Amino acid sequence: MKKSIVIAIDGTSASGKSTNAKLVAQALGHVYVDTGAMYRTLAWHCLRHRIDVTDAKAVGTACRQWKTQLKCVADGFRQVRLLVDGYYPETEIRTAETSAAVPHVAAGPQVRAWMKRKQRECLRFGDLVMEGRDIGTNVFPETDFKFYLDAHLAERSRRRAADGVNENLAARDQRDSQRAAAPLMVALGAKVIDTSGLTAAQTSAAIIEEVRQRLARTGPD
Ligand code: C5P
Repeated sequence: MKKSIVIAIDGTSASGKSTNAKLVAQALGHVYVDTGAMYRTLAWHCLRHRIDVTDAKAVGTACRQWKTQLKCVADGFRQVRLLVDGYYPETEIRTAETSAAVPHVAAGPQVRAWMKRKQRECLRFGDLVMEGRDIGTNVFPETDFKFYLDAHLAERSRRRAADGVNENLAARDQRDSQRAAAPLMVALGAKVIDTSGLTAAQTSAAIIEEVRQRLARTGPD
């Protein structure tokens, strides 16, 4: 049986992961998975139910008990959504309040184990492009297609501001890099791309070219 292909795209906040992961998924016909949205959804759920996001035990319990469903939707390209009680909180998960809460929620080992299980379940939808912080190191360490995107802090802050979001990206990156459970780091064998001076078209083309070269070397089986 043909082995599924998982393209893992990790990196710092606002380094271009989402834009490029979507372009690559679209070009290759893979299913796009935004794992940040899954952590954001849990953070939103906790805030809504007044669960202290810094209390790892309480957040872990909430994560075990919430009613979720993975759904693959087609919206230009196929992508996976994590629904809570049948609802996808698309706009709510992008607020400054949720952004500030999410690294706390994401630090707990119980939450990470739950997310890893759900993220690996996405294989049932087909070949994937999955973006996050620990996809190449923790969720799919066996994949041959690992990427790590980064850009200068000033450029990343400029990109977020252009999206109308002002937040302390350095603080979030620091929390993500320094947590004990599955911290943000460059996976062994990952191709590191500095997107500071690159357009999305250039970055996604570089990713696709690298995938083709690695596929030619390793074969798709
Ligand atoms: O990618 P995005 O900025 O939406 O991610 C939001 C937050 O979710 C990150 O700052 C991080 O705390 C958490 N996250 C994570 N592991 C992932 C994806 C996101 O810890 N694989």
